[in-house]
Amino acid sequence: AGTSMEPALLFFSEEMNQHAKEHLRIESELRDALANGELLLYYQPKVSLRSGRIVGAEALLRWRHPVRGLVSPGVFIPVAEETGLIMELGDWAIEEACRQIRQWHDAGLEMPPVAVNLSARQFDTGLPQRMAAVLERHDVSPEQVMLEITESLLVRGADTVIGIMNDLVAMGLALALDDFGTGYSSLAYLKKFPISTLKIDRAFVIGLPHEENDCAIARAIVTMAQQMRQEIVAEGVETEDQMTFLRDLGCDQLQGYLFSQPVPAVDFQRMLGEGRRL
Ligand code: C2E
Ligand code: CA
Ligand code: CA
Ligand code: CA
Repeated sequence: AGTSMEPALLFFSEEMNQHAKEHLRIESELRDALANGELLLYYQPKVSLRSGRIVGAEALLRWRHPVRGLVSPGVFIPVAEETGLIMELGDWAIEEACRQIRQWHDAGLEMPPVAVNLSARQFDTGLPQRMAAVLERHDVSPEQVMLEITESLLVRGADTVIGIMNDLVAMGLALALDDFGTGYSSLAYLKKFPISTLKIDRAFVIGLPHEENDCAIARAIVTMAQQMRQEIVAEGVETEDQMTFLRDLGCDQLQGYLFSQPVPAVDFQRMLGEGRRL
């Protein structure tokens, strides 16, 4: 050991260095983005598999970078999560969604609930209070907003988390458990969560209807959610075959490119106004 530098190790550390630099750059640019109003929300419809109508939307962050164009959250959310910037980003998203809901309401539109994603780091004991304040600021009723959470918030400890969830639900906000099936929490928790909606992760939708294991998993999730009287949304539905399979299973809603990609607020508004159907 000692003197000779391992090529693999050298390569690895250079790569790490590159990664760290990129990370720092994104972090500082992201702070500017918040200040300069470069963030925006896109909206992706959720459609009922029974009526074919739009019954909800998910608000998804986008970053209009002055040089790089539209940056997707896959690039900047992980950085924001690591640095804690996600708190500000997440608060911004909630604020912006409520502002938009108010605007749609004022324009006389019949709006289905809009879901906003919440990071585990936003899920602290002050959250119900912050939510109440935003709703009040924009005069939005809690039934118009849904919160999408993931099992990763269990890092805070189940009792605390369930307490916060109960407070949010008591306020009239609905909770959806996102990316279901990809987390590490057990079914024992699921029973205790006051959630109204379960979202089947795209990872299990991709293989439908051909992959036997994905079919079995989807079937199990739908059966369980039905037992618990939860709505089931399938994410990332791209094909007619997937849709048919999910509909036959008894899945309630679909969200995916088959119906629409996430789109700017004006386009979502148009889709609603035209009464577009599956
Ligand atoms: P997510 O919450 O699981 O959101 C669904 C993602 O799947 C979105 O990616 C959406 O564009 C994509 N998607 C929907 N339908 C299809 C489909 O048919 N095919 C494929 N290939 N993809 C589909 P997006 O917008 O890039 O967001 C990625 C992730 O970033 C989100 O995953 C969410 O975890 C996170 N994110 C986005 N906005 C926010 C936010 O405001 N706050 C927080 N904390 N996280 C956010
Ligand atoms: Ca989500
Ligand atoms: Ca998801
Ligand atoms: Ca996902």
